[in-house]
Amino acid sequence: MDPTDPTTPGLVCAHHHLYSALARGMPAPPRTPAGFTDILELVWWRLDRALDLETIRWSAMLGALEALERGCTAIIDHHESPEAIEGSLDVIAEACATVGIRVSCSYGITDRHGPDGARRGLAENERFLRSGGRGMVGVHAAFTCTDDSLEAAAGLAADLGVGVHVHVAEGKADIAAADRLRPLTTDDWLLIHGVHLDDDHGLAGCVVHNPRSNMNNSVGYARPTRFANPVALGTDGIGADMLDEFRLAYVRQREDDVTASPEDAWGWLAAGWDLFPEAQRDRVVWNPVAPVETPMDPWRLAFTTGVAPRTVEVDGDVVLADGRATRVDSDEIRARAAEQAVRLHRRLEEI
Ligand SMILES: [Zn+2]
Repeated sequence: MDPTDPTTPGLVCAHHHLYSALARGMPAPPRTPAGFTDILELVWWRLDRALDLETIRWSAMLGALEALERGCTAIIDHHESPEAIEGSLDVIAEACATVGIRVSCSYGITDRHGPDGARRGLAENERFLRSGGRGMVGVHAAFTCTDDSLEAAAGLAADLGVGVHVHVAEGKADIAAADRLRPLTTDDWLLIHGVHLDDDHGLAGCVVHNPRSNMNNSVGYARPTRFANPVALGTDGIGADMLDEFRLAYVRQREDDVTASPEDAWGWLAAGWDLFPEAQRDRVVWNPVAPVETPMDPWRLAFTTGVAPRTVEVDGDVVLADGRATRVDSDEIRARAAEQAVRLHRRLEEI
């Protein structure tokens, strides 16, 4: 990429949870979570049970709009909604298409709602992919799945010619993931987090680093430079401002190693284009970053906050002009999302 050119291809978020956009402002959990497993049980596993297709739709619309407004044109999404599994991936794909961005969908299967839940999750992946949807086979994490479910997901992915999108060793609760997944992984898998993987873990696939989420969940630093695998950047559901995530990835690395350069984090951001090559056909014209001789230089961007796009083209269509979405009414999406958030938060108080 030419650092003197204020345009880039569309940015890629290599791990997102579009269903979490309405979680902001949700009621506080019944007690303060004391660790990563508590955070899952008291926050995210209550939220996903409260979702229905309508809240999924407006959460995805809002998430897609926010991605577009930050120059992210391709999202690799990981979804779970145990009370609304069937058709959920279509709802997310339609929402992104309506806003005008690209998405790769997967349903994160899990046995934590019993074997029938895992079976239905796998069926949703298969239904969506066989109907021509762009996506991967999703798995929540090894520690919430039986070996049978992990093997079934890997088998389905191989049959359909796609990879598996799975959280790996995010917290200590999933420390056994490497041994259980090692016989199954292939280069097209996405290994999300990898915080507690050994340096020589022996898993094939791309590690996706989510620095803000890891810090927020206090799970530790993944130290991605230690892996032989390719590394890409995701947000784990906290928006899709990829320049912001790049900045955070750099400064988190720098905190660990004062000799670190933002070129590493920039490389992780650029690795998104290997995962979602179509985004290279998209064009983002960024607002001026003063001084403008080298606006898209990693060293400059690492210290320039709030960089936003002026124009975004996806596959030749202008989907953002003068900073505003062209295909949808952004005020209307925010208003409808706010209404659905009220409904979702009310439902959460009953769970
Ligand atoms: Zn995640």
